[in-house]
Amino acid sequence: MAITTTREIRLAARPVGEPASGDFALATVELPAPADGQVLVRNTWMSVDPYMRGRMDDAESYIPPFRLGAALEGGAVGEVVASRSDAVPVGATVVHFLGWREHAVVDASAVTVVDTAIAPASAYLGVLGTPGLTAYVSVTEIAPVRPGDVVFVSAAAGAVGSAAGQIARQLGASRVIGSAGGPVKAAKLLEAFGFDAALDYKAGPIAEQLASAAPDGIDVYVDHVGGDHLEAAVGAMRVGGRIAVVGAISQYNATEPPPGPNLYRVATKELSLRGMVVTSHLHRFPEYVGRAAGWLADGNLRTEETVSDGLESAPEAFLGVLRGANTGKMLVRLDAR
Ligand code: NAP
Repeated sequence: MAITTTREIRLAARPVGEPASGDFALATVELPAPADGQVLVRNTWMSVDPYMRGRMDDAESYIPPFRLGAALEGGAVGEVVASRSDAVPVGATVVHFLGWREHAVVDASAVTVVDTAIAPASAYLGVLGTPGLTAYVSVTEIAPVRPGDVVFVSAAAGAVGSAAGQIARQLGASRVIGSAGGPVKAAKLLEAFGFDAALDYKAGPIAEQLASAAPDGIDVYVDHVGGDHLEAAVGAMRVGGRIAVVGAISQYNATEPPPGPNLYRVATKELSLRGMVVTSHLHRFPEYVGRAAGWLADGNLRTEETVSDGLESAPEAFLGVLRGANTGKMLVRLDAR
């Protein structure tokens, strides 16, 4: 029987501090039909990402807030099931930005057809998607890794961090140090992602652990965490070091402005500290996917996914990514219907 309805997840309330499942609402809606120039996509995977926490607040940033009562948005991949565009045929696998729903009507100009011969569809939300590109731009442009460098990456068992550490190695880093929460993830950094040293930030002060893992200091720090990690990295920097300020997940649920690190040392060590927003670097996707496909094929870039099933599990998966329930890319597999 033909499907006439589909489901989406809406923002029910704006959280104060850590979000909870009551901030989300599951709604059943009529299956939309594509207009001229549009396609109907059956989403097979959706992404849950830390930056979505910022969009739950009513605060302008580089990306507008989610609207109360409306479906959330985010990266998704799916199969085109109806098309009113010559450019995108039925059956194509596409990436687009209308996640948090089982079906989406999208302008054909807003989807990218992907090649599932290179990697499975879900990889286009992880290692071959914006998380991978974020890692690549960070270590090639924002804080370029040079041969022989000692590199430190935080949130290193996650989607961006696990790729950043491995790409740093490909660029010639002599030692790659990662931090993650708990002994299981720390072991994974060494065994699955090829880091030379793994710091469990839950086991003791990160500055002390970093000092013993890198007694002569570090050249590059890729910051996904902020706070104590950034403070420790600035302290451990060698003269001329580079820091990519990519994220500050330790502060995303803060209700008061957190105390900052002593950035004066950025000056005395003549460090470069550069932020990045991946959407300013999307033109580098073709270059990155070309290199990453080679590394995936020869085993130099490994990936993990943490998967939860069904649209109704998306809020929990998103709350999980903020708490560290994921290793590698956190994804939601949507019901095949
Ligand atoms: P992810 O690393 O796959 O998942 C987030 C991880 O953060 C969790 O698994 C958790 O791992 C860690 N975490 C949570 N709370 C923490 C805390 N208080 N202290 C230390 N670690 C904590 O997520 P992702 O998508 O790859 O993103 C990683 C970072 O990059 C985020 O800060 C994100 O906002 C940022 N980002 C920025 C851009 C950009 O354009 N600038 C693009 C993509 C991502 P543990 O179990 O190890 O704690």
